[in-house]
Formats: sequence, structure tokens, C-alpha cells
Amino acid sequence: MVQFYSLEEALKHFFGYDSFRPAQRQIVEEALQNRDLLIIMPTGGGKSLCFQLPALLKPGLTVVVSPLISLMQDQVDALLDNGIGATFLNSTLSWDDTRSRETAILKGKIKLLYVAPERLLGERFGPFLEMVRSQVGISAFAIDEAHCVSEWGHDFRPEYRQIKQLRQRYPDVPVLALTATATKRVQQDIIQQLMLKQPGIHITSFNRPNLYYEVQPKQSQSYNQLLKQIRSHQGAGIVYCLSRRTVDELAFRLEKDGISALPYHAGMTDEARTINQSRFIRDDVRVMVATIAFGMGINKPDVRFVIHYDLPRNLESYYQESGRAGRDAEPAHCTLLYSAGDIFRIKFLIEQKPDPKEQQVAFQQLRQVIDYAEGTDCRRTIQLRYFGEKFAGNCGNCDNCRNPKPIEDWTIEAQKFLSCVARCKERFGMIHVIDVLRGSRKKKIEQYGHHLLSTYGIGKDKSVEAWKMLARSLLHQGLVDETHDGYPILKLNKLSWEILRSQRSVQIAITQTPAAKALAEINPRTAEIEILFERLRKLRKQLADAQSVPPYVVFADSSLRLMAQQQPQTLEAFAEISGVGTHKLAQYGETFVSEIRAFCQEQKLPVPLPSNTHMLTLQLHQQGLSVEEIAQQRKYSRTTIVGHLSELLEMQQPVELNRIVSLDRQKAIIQAIQTLGAESLRTLREHLGEAYSYEEIRLVRSWWLREKG
Ligand code: ADP
Ligand code: ZN
Repeated sequence: MVQFYSLEEALKHFFGYDSFRPAQRQIVEEALQNRDLLIIMPTGGGKSLCFQLPALLKPGLTVVVSPLISLMQDQVDALLDNGIGATFLNSTLSWDDTRSRETAILKGKIKLLYVAPERLLGERFGPFLEMVRSQVGISAFAIDEAHCVSEWGHDFRPEYRQIKQLRQRYPDVPVLALTATATKRVQQDIIQQLMLKQPGIHITSFNRPNLYYEVQPKQSQSYNQLLKQIRSHQGAGIVYCLSRRTVDELAFRLEKDGISALPYHAGMTDEARTINQSRFIRDDVRVMVATIAFGMGINKPDVRFVIHYDLPRNLESYYQESGRAGRDAEPAHCTLLYSAGDIFRIKFLIEQKPDPKEQQVAFQQLRQVIDYAEGTDCRRTIQLRYFGEKFAGNCGNCDNCRNPKPIEDWTIEAQKFLSCVARCKERFGMIHVIDVLRGSRKKKIEQYGHHLLSTYGIGKDKSVEAWKMLARSLLHQGLVDETHDGYPILKLNKLSWEILRSQRSVQIAITQTPAAKALAEINPRTAEIEILFERLRKLRKQLADAQSVPPYVVFADSSLRLMAQQQPQTLEAFAEISGVGTHKLAQYGETFVSEIRAFCQEQKLPVPLPSNTHMLTLQLHQQGLSVEEIAQQRKYSRTTIVGHLSELLEMQQPVELNRIVSLDRQKAIIQAIQTLGAESLRTLREHLGEAYSYEEIRLVRSWWLREKG
């Protein structure tokens, strides 16, 4: 066995990392002292390392109990790719395969063995484990997803209850239990059920600092909003929706709009789901549109965004679902699209529940989701408070912290609104009250004689949207009530009367239009890094496909990003990159270094760098805006913007030409260029005819010049 001077050295050797994450080091030390451990870390916190590194440093075999076959396979692939002896035994293997794996274990070639819980106590496995103990020794039992042992957890699995027999049979072998579940009750249950002996308990914060959280009001053109959102991101993402129908529809439309997407829901066959899942994991497809059926067992650390197209059931599920983004600790984006219409739909569904107790719980959970969505505090603070964790707030990485909404005093408006509710005898909903306030001429108003009320028309100075914003805020703050008798009706409560009597003031957060959003700093170097990053991603995909493993097994996104930034051109420099261990250096070093070298050579060519104004246009283009929209936002003519984009194309910047000019039109233009040359736009236009605009010809010509150059 190799000797190491420090744990850090061992970490770099086996996994290529330079330092431990918080808590990992302490846990590894305690594991090396053969202590029982309970490890609670959020998804992506780095749990695996806590038992993998000790397994490599101790004599004998570590047996890992893991609930899902697909997870096992992925973990073993990742270990093998680091040159670590690992294998799994489960029901998918042939007799011969099982035999040869067992032999390798007994010869001491394997350090980590993954098994499913139901297998542990099988007729064959018991005696085999005895042989392992006498021939190579058992260094630890690691129980992954340990919350499955608890009925209070969200994934109870009866097979997990049998694990305690291991403890009874091998009382001296330490047991490590790992989970990402937060509740105290489950934690207690794990200790009891697995019979942990004075375990070292390590609970890290549930904060996921790399995730950006935001809530967007869902627009009436919600599909376009989604499309734009996806286009503004790079890398893979998940879109969660409530119904199977929406899943199928969105996946279909995205695919049509040039975004590779697949559906996933419980209405599909097992086979179809498995295929879609593995295509997503392997980066064959970019977006998974799914119901919550897509959940545990997706081992894809490089998901860059999760969008909730519909409201989640409760805050815990929102935390878990959005938490599937950025497990590799790289920046990722979590967006919740939120509309008042969705709330009415869900309320209606809840009202159909026969059990009043269930109804009450569901309403309470919905309330918490609404509080999160409408809240003006730091989103992180709201989420972590839900888990009983205190967080100082102002995380700087959520929409509320980055663009705080201004708070205004709307007491007078609230008085107008509430007195109108009173005059309508508390028998109408929000829309009707607003119609009266704004002096609407709808028939319904006259039918009820509401055009004669003293509040008729006193709110003309504010838009319908502004009144709705006030009404929602009043409801949300509990300053007015709403009952549901077939349709929602506003009712005054004690607090409403305090406002009407001027005993209470009303503050509301003003939602701004997205146009006010500031543009981030950009520079040409960022673009260069992006281009190299994309190239390295392609290379990684090729290497991964050749070995039939998911791309992240070759290198994590974070390693690729470091390569793109530091551009190491020698093997020594490459070895310094975090994530490059001894084995990976030998296996992939040459290939990656030569790709990076080639890239740097090309960069030396005198390619002019774009100016700031070009970069602003590029950024808007990358956010999915059309030429027209960019022109409007930047207050330039279309011609100027097309000029920018053409020049950007010539400067090798990532302009997506296919989005602006359709493929068959591009073909026609290129044919014209090939016959007539690229010198004169005018000649080309005359040849192509009126149906082709100067804009398109110019863009395609720039692309062509770049490809030729
Ligand atoms: P969990 O099981 O807690 O969800 P993983 O064990 O899968 O998390 O780790 C999440 C990601 O973090 C993986 O990509 C892993 O390689 C990476 N990682 C873990 N520990 C470190 C570390 N010390 N330095 C850098 N990356 C790490
Ligand atoms: Zn925040």
C-alpha cells in the first residue's frame, strides 16, 4: 500500500482534489479511528468521499449498501475511472460475472464493494462475507441513503431494516450512515435502527451556496418565458411540471424550437424512462422535462439549472427538487415560475380532498410555498428557516438579495380597496372589486348597481396590475381574507378594519419590470474561456462515449472550467488542476493538453477582440433575445445590431446563426456566395431576390468568411 504524509496528499493522489470540504477531514479522521458515524450533508456536499477515502487507507474491504442499481453502477464507474478497485454485486449480473467479482474481492483487489440491501442477507452472501472477513478483513459498512431505514423518511424501504443484522453479526466493524435528510426524527431513527454505538454525528448546513434562487412571475406567454430562460443558460437542466400532459407538450415544443429535450413521467414504460434518463445523464440530450417522478437516483452532478414551471407541493420538495442542480458545487440556477392562477388551481384541488386533516396540512404547505414565492426576504433565509436552521440573510445569491424590491407605503390605496370590498357587501372577488375601483363599464357592475357606489372610479389612477399587486399583498400579509364558495370572495377581517380606521399602515414590496435588470460585467476573455470550455466538453463527451460512461466520470465541470481558465499546456501544469489525480493524469493528460495547446495556437492568430458594445449585444443574444428585441432594449437600429452580430461571427464569438436564419435559407445564401463570391452584398441580393434580406445575407456571409478563414 502507498504511504502518505498527510490526508491531503492521499486526497490528491486518489481523487485529484487539493483540499477537503468543510467537515470531510474530521469525518475521515474519525472513520480511520473506527468510530461509528452519522453523516448528514445536503446533496452535493461530498458524502461519498467520507467513506471512500478511509476505505482506501484502511486494510480490508468496505461494504457499501446502496438502494439503487443505477446509482451503484455510476459510483463504481467513477471510482474505476480514478483507478480505484471497486465493484458491485446485484441481481443484474450473470453467474460467471458474480463468481469472478467474488474472486477478485477475496484476492484483495477490491477496496469498495457496493451491494443492494436485499442481497446482504441472502443465502449466498452471508457465507461469502464470512470468507471476506477471514481472508482480507472488513474495514467498514457504509450505509448510503440511510434515511431509507426510517418510516418517517420520504423513501422508507423495508429491506433497510435488515441491515442491523450486519451490526449484530460483526459488532466490531464500524458502521457509517449517510443521508441528505434534514429532520431530527429521521436522524434519531437511523441511530436506533442501525444500532450505531456513540456515533460521531456530523451535520453540515443545508445551505447550498452555489445555487442561485429566483422567483419569476409567470407570464401569460409562459412557454416563451420558459424558452427564453432555457436559452439564457448553458449546460443541462430539468424542467419540473405538475401534469404528464404538460410534460409531453413542453418536451415536444422545446424540441421543435431547437432545444433537445425529453419527457419523463410515471405514465411512460419503465424502459422508456430508463432510456431517457440515461440519455440525459450522458449529455445526449440537454433538457429533461419531468414530473416529480424524476427524482432520487438521478446521479447527474452537472445539472446547471432547474426550472419549476408549476408550483411545488411544499417547501421541502422544492428544496430537494431544485437541489438536483449543481451537485458538483459549481454555480447553478433555480427558477420558480409563480402565478396567482396556479394557486387557485391548487386550492381547488385541495378542496376536493375528502379528509379534512389532509386538507388542512395541504393548505398549510401551500401557504409556506406562497410565502416563499411572494417573500421579499432572502430566499435562502426562508428555506433554511423551514429546516430550523438560522441563516444570517443577505446571501448575495438570490433575486431578493441582488435586486431588493423597494417597499412603499400604500395605506391610502389599501383603504380605498378595503372600503370597496365593504361597499360590495363582501360578496365579490378581487377582479370585481378592482373593476368598481377603476370605474369599469362592464354590464355586471351596473346590474348590481355598483356604479352608484361612492368607491366607483376612485382608483382610476392605478393600473389593474397595480391593484392586483396590492390585493395579493394584502391577502399574503393576512390583511384581508378570502373564502372559496365555488369562486373566491374577499372578506374583511379584524386587521382590515384596523386599516380602515387608520390604526394600521400597509407596506408592500413593489415588483419591478424585468427591463430594469442590470447587465453583468463582461469582457472578451470570458468569451474565450467559454469557447475553450465548450471544446473541452466535446472532447470529454467523446472520451466518455468511447467508454460508455457518463461525461462527468471523465472530469467534473469544475475541472473543465479550471482547464479553460488556466489553459495548462504541459502535463505538469495539467496535474495541478483540481480533479486531476494520478490515474486521470496518466489516462487523459496527453489528450486534454494537446487540445488546449491547439486552442492556444489558434488564439495567437490575430483575431480582433470584440468591444464592449459588441459584447453587450452578444450577451443579450445569448439570453435568447431576437434581433428586434436586442435593438429595442439597446435603443439601436436593427442594422446596427445585425452589424454587431456579423462582426461577432467573424471574430469567432458564439453567435447562434441557426436561431436567426433558418437552415435552408442559409444553404441558399451559401450557394450564392460559392457561385458569385463574397465581395458584394448587393450582387448576392440581386441574385437571391427580394425574398432574402440584406440582414440575413450579411450574417451568413460573415459566418462563411469565418469558416473559410
Ligand atoms: P453527495 O453524495 O453528498 O451528494 P458527492 O459525494 O456525489 O455528494 O459529491 C458531490 C461532488 O463534489 C462530486 O462531484 C465530488 O467529486 C465533489 N467533491 C467531493 N469532495 C470534494 C473535495 N474535497 N474537493 C472538490 N470536489 C469534491
Ligand atoms: Zn439571499
